Amino acid sequence: MHKTVKPLLKVNDLHVSFHVRAGEVKAVRGVSFHVNPGEAVAIVGESGCGKSVTAQSIMRLLPSPPSKVKQGQIVFKGEDLLKLKPARMQSVRGKDIGMIFQDPMTSLNPTMTIGRQITEVLEKHKQMSGREAKQVAIDMLNLVGIPNAASRFGQYPHEFSGGMRQRAMIAIALACNPSLLIADEPTTALDVTIQAQILSVMKDLQAKFGTSIILITHDLGIVADLCDRVIVMYAGKVVETGTKWEIFKNPKHPYTKGLLRSLPRLDQKKNEPLIPINGTPPDLIKPPAGCGFCARCDYAMQICKTEDPEISEISGSHQARCWLLHPLAQEVSV
Ligand code: SF4
Repeated sequence: MHKTVKPLLKVNDLHVSFHVRAGEVKAVRGVSFHVNPGEAVAIVGESGCGKSVTAQSIMRLLPSPPSKVKQGQIVFKGEDLLKLKPARMQSVRGKDIGMIFQDPMTSLNPTMTIGRQITEVLEKHKQMSGREAKQVAIDMLNLVGIPNAASRFGQYPHEFSGGMRQRAMIAIALACNPSLLIADEPTTALDVTIQAQILSVMKDLQAKFGTSIILITHDLGIVADLCDRVIVMYAGKVVETGTKWEIFKNPKHPYTKGLLRSLPRLDQKKNEPLIPINGTPPDLIKPPAGCGFCARCDYAMQICKTEDPEISEISGSHQARCWLLHPLAQEVSV
């Protein structure tokens, strides 16, 4: 019999807005997804699609005001994070959910040694003694591939290179062995070689500790190696979700197809151009009534302008939000 896996994280109908001088920016408009234990899920999409806002809402890191969670639930291990008292949320953050950011310099404390930044977390969340925490911190620095970890323990962030700082961030985020790691564009600021090394560190640690990962990225290329499932976001909504093979081999939403066409491929013929997606995302102060991708979509129909498409089930694990997939839609080859 098929065993049902209980999700570690379930986001239900999340709506997040920012109240700015020009009006209400509806950055996240009804996002739902889940992450199973030990699973690595990528959230992909262009800048401003709502992926980072979704991640920061899970961690409750968005300043309010100007942000406001208007609606929804974020259920982690059976508790709605949006209802937790600040002290309880602080204990979840760092202990149960770790986060790494694009630029470690903005999240590492420049006035504290790297070692102290790890031991502080261990003493606070795991009630370890100073000596015990120091040993675990050195072990973590070793695990993330920092050479001479014992001597680098006493160094400051500015004494580390960009790639080493990102490794140190991973060590801090994973020090308490959290069940979920959220990595928001963790390799964007790094060159390609270091990017590959950081992704390989994350992959090894996921296999070793069984940590679930949410990888936020605009780059579908880095998803293939690390992730099991992909969530594609556009204009504050999830437009397609599936296993990585469903998304890479059988994409259904025109936006996902566009993203894939804009990526270089190994089998690309010489002089074969990459095809960018023309146009820009809609203004989320006045989001369109119909499909958010309508103004950029080559297949837009009359209904796309006025009615938001329903979610269509392609398989048990693959869904997309597009009128072309509606059973009544004409056969159109995209
Ligand atoms: Fe294009 Fe219409 Fe599908 Fe939106 S719903 S992606 S506009 S075909």
